[in-house]
Amino acid sequence: MGQNKGMDPNRRFLFRRSSLAAQALVQRPPGALPEAEFVELCTRCDACIQACPPQVIQRGDGGFPQMNFKTQGCDACAACLPVCKPRALREPASFGDWLAQIGPACLAARGVECRICGEACEASAIRFRPRLGGVTQPELDAERCTACGACVGGCPTQAISMARR
Ligand code: SF4
Ligand code: SF4
Ligand code: SF4
Repeated sequence: MGQNKGMDPNRRFLFRRSSLAAQALVQRPPGALPEAEFVELCTRCDACIQACPPQVIQRGDGGFPQMNFKTQGCDACAACLPVCKPRALREPASFGDWLAQIGPACLAARGVECRICGEACEASAIRFRPRLGGVTQPELDAERCTACGACVGGCPTQAISMARR
């Protein structure tokens, strides 16, 4: 059950300002409207959280839903969209301008062979090119990446995060 239906307008305004400032850091559920509209419409009812079969949506700051890919990724089932009554989530069920980014903690960057993320990516957005005299490195194809987060949880060094393009 959501913690509010009628958020105090002043609190909503303040949250909206702080949320907008942090919007580059928070990945909303698929189909989310741009952050300003999303925060305006979302009632924090938790319906999307409860509707998500793989449970990859969690309550974030202020009770607003955000993605959590620690255990698995979004399978694009779109079950979260129709349950959003204020229509803060709308078709298409995509993550807009988000994509994965591979950071310096990657084992391959330290000379250790690892291809776990590439095996997890159904979109084949992470490729490992043969490399003479060294360990092959993961390369992200930004055009293919759907920001599904399937690569995040399996990385043994938590080297993968989600970012805006
Ligand atoms: S599309 Fe499906 S798997 Fe992805 S967040 Fe929505 S309910 Fe969860
Ligand atoms: S799973 Fe993590 S450590 Fe392994 S190649 Fe991918 S980013 Fe690097
Ligand atoms: S977030 Fe991108 S790179 Fe990672 S599994 Fe999904 S499509 Fe592949």
